[in-house]
Amino acid sequence: MAVMQPIMLRLLTASALLWAASPCWAAEAKDARQHLSHDLQVRVSPDAKSLQAMDTIRLPASHDAALEFVLHAGLDPRPIDQDVSIEPIEGDSMHASVPLERFRLTLPEGRHAFTIRYGGEIHHPLRQGAGESRSFRTTPGLIADDGVFLSGAAHWYPQFNDDLMTFSVEVELPEAWTAVSQGVRMHAASQSGEHGGVRWESHAPQDEIYLVAGKFTEYRDSLGAVQVQAFLRQPDAALAKRYLDASIGYLEMYGALLGPYPYGKFALVENFWQTGFGMPSFTLLGDRIIRMPFILQSSYPHEILHNWWGNGVYVDYSGGNWSEGLTAYLADHLLKEQQGKGVLHRRNALQRYANFVDAGTDFPLGEFRGRFSPASEAVGYGKTMMLFHALRRQMGDDAFIKALRRFYRDYEFRRASFANIGNTFGAAAKSANFDQWLKRAGAPQLAVSHALSRSAGDVFELRFTLEQVQDGPAFHISVPIAVTLEGLDQAFQTELTMRDKLADVRLSMRRRPLRLDVDPQFDVFRRLSPGEMPPALSHVQGAAQVLILLPADAPPPMLDAYRQLAGNWRQRYGPHVEIKLDSEVEELPVGVSVWAFGWNNRFLTDVANALPTYGAQLLGRDSLTIAGERFASDQHSLVLTMVHPADEDATLNWLAAHDVAAMPGLARKLPHYGKYSYLAFNGGALDNVLKGQWPVLRSSLTVMVEQENGKIIDVTRAELEHRQALIGP
Ligand SMILES: [Zn+2]
Repeated sequence: MAVMQPIMLRLLTASALLWAASPCWAAEAKDARQHLSHDLQVRVSPDAKSLQAMDTIRLPASHDAALEFVLHAGLDPRPIDQDVSIEPIEGDSMHASVPLERFRLTLPEGRHAFTIRYGGEIHHPLRQGAGESRSFRTTPGLIADDGVFLSGAAHWYPQFNDDLMTFSVEVELPEAWTAVSQGVRMHAASQSGEHGGVRWESHAPQDEIYLVAGKFTEYRDSLGAVQVQAFLRQPDAALAKRYLDASIGYLEMYGALLGPYPYGKFALVENFWQTGFGMPSFTLLGDRIIRMPFILQSSYPHEILHNWWGNGVYVDYSGGNWSEGLTAYLADHLLKEQQGKGVLHRRNALQRYANFVDAGTDFPLGEFRGRFSPASEAVGYGKTMMLFHALRRQMGDDAFIKALRRFYRDYEFRRASFANIGNTFGAAAKSANFDQWLKRAGAPQLAVSHALSRSAGDVFELRFTLEQVQDGPAFHISVPIAVTLEGLDQAFQTELTMRDKLADVRLSMRRRPLRLDVDPQFDVFRRLSPGEMPPALSHVQGAAQVLILLPADAPPPMLDAYRQLAGNWRQRYGPHVEIKLDSEVEELPVGVSVWAFGWNNRFLTDVANALPTYGAQLLGRDSLTIAGERFASDQHSLVLTMVHPADEDATLNWLAAHDVAAMPGLARKLPHYGKYSYLAFNGGALDNVLKGQWPVLRSSLTVMVEQENGKIIDVTRAELEHRQALIGP
């Protein structure tokens, strides 16, 4: 299951049309006896919160002699045939999210198929996921009046082991309801006669069976033999069309890049609570999320791509979850790259790592299972994404794409590990020292110094020291550098292989070197230095020590509202968030990231003094100008973050609401704006009218080269090589 991020698409090639005409899923039935199969007939009664089921199970040609299965408690499974017996046995149901019962099944000699009848209530109300900004409320299984959601975790069908399986499920529902599952629909509700039934079949091996149902309006299109569907809870033809068109575009793009889409359909399904889940061959998005305009270019392609990575090639979790990082690289990163924003996207990923991950929360990629915090996301998504970027840099685009296609072809509908990826990428993985990222936490941190130019005849020698300054041993990395040369518009670019913590570098060049930029396009996974990043809200959101200063002089209802907002953050981010009145503090505290709340805050002067560096200005206590625009205190809610004037490792932040009523909305919205330096929201609806990042004033990995005469000439960086996106537009 998966979540949200940003993107854009295009593209239609001859090869995309070709694969669409010859779907591979039709050929998958050949190894049916290799997997256990379920043939389910289910009657779902939303008003009774229950289901009644008959399951005909076919065992794989080779299976354990002692058969045991687990089922949701209270479903009372019984065999149809008299020569089959089912006995309850004591068993642990540790870690299960629903109450379970375990059974032993005894079959007559030589029997491979049998039918079980069971039924009862499955109703687990929604619960909040882990306390993280982007987590959703969730349930393993819920049969209710407003909809049905059953995942493998609900154990709504008998589960024998963790092996992949195939299935069909025929569902009977009340009038006007319909059901969606993986695979393809064999006959539509309208054709099925009296029961209003619908049947889904998946011959492609799955690791769980989903059953989702509701009163949907269905919209359809197709791409070759692939059905493209949208199931909406309220009729909305325009919305459906946007999603159908986007589905077709992304299926074409990824088919051309990676190989045929692995399923016979792709469906957008509107959920009855807010989710952004990607399941094999469908995605389940909440009604609010589905209507956010940016989703079509962000989480939607990400979820579609999961049909290749995660739901096409399954993850062997024992060696770490590679699928999120690869999906992030080929969806979120690729679409940014197509817009010419790849460098920014990588810098943002590195910035999240720098801001959210420390020695206490870091871990090797081999231990990543899933996201449960900003830190686990920065590592599991961000670092993995950068690992694939390093592989691509090492191999070149064509070889990288070939290796991706080979990996997909070799492991389709099988579980694969990071080690399998390492083998597929072969020599490139070895050169990129793939293993160090799987086994070791942390990141290199780079420093550059002593950049000198010496000339001999008409040849110049550039000397400098490149150092890995993190604790612990060196990482084996390849570090790009760009040298700005006298009289040339284009920079000289090369890569330095670093195996030790210290490298004394000497490079000969025909022109006088003036300026050195280390890793200017953020190609290396590393811990950024504070000077390389624009101050962003994610810094204070991830800071180890935060002090919120409330405005003692604000009108009491306003002060109360600020106090509530502060309390809300303390709950979200933890007890290291301290809350005080500004009147309790004499001077702007150092060694801690500070929030000053309100226009009446006594530390507003510190905010006003720091702002001009960034090209912004406070005008008295009633307006702010920023990026040439003026924002009034009674109309706009404003949020800013800056480097702390007396402590470059901390930030000074300011938040001023234009109205008491704006506070809950700000509390809800701000966690989603972590990468920004400044924000303005307008009116009661809190429409975001301005967001941006301050410019980076000076990176510590940029140095001007000292010339023989001791002089340093300050120049802007020459142009860098133009890079193409991995594919299109
Ligand atoms: Zn994902």
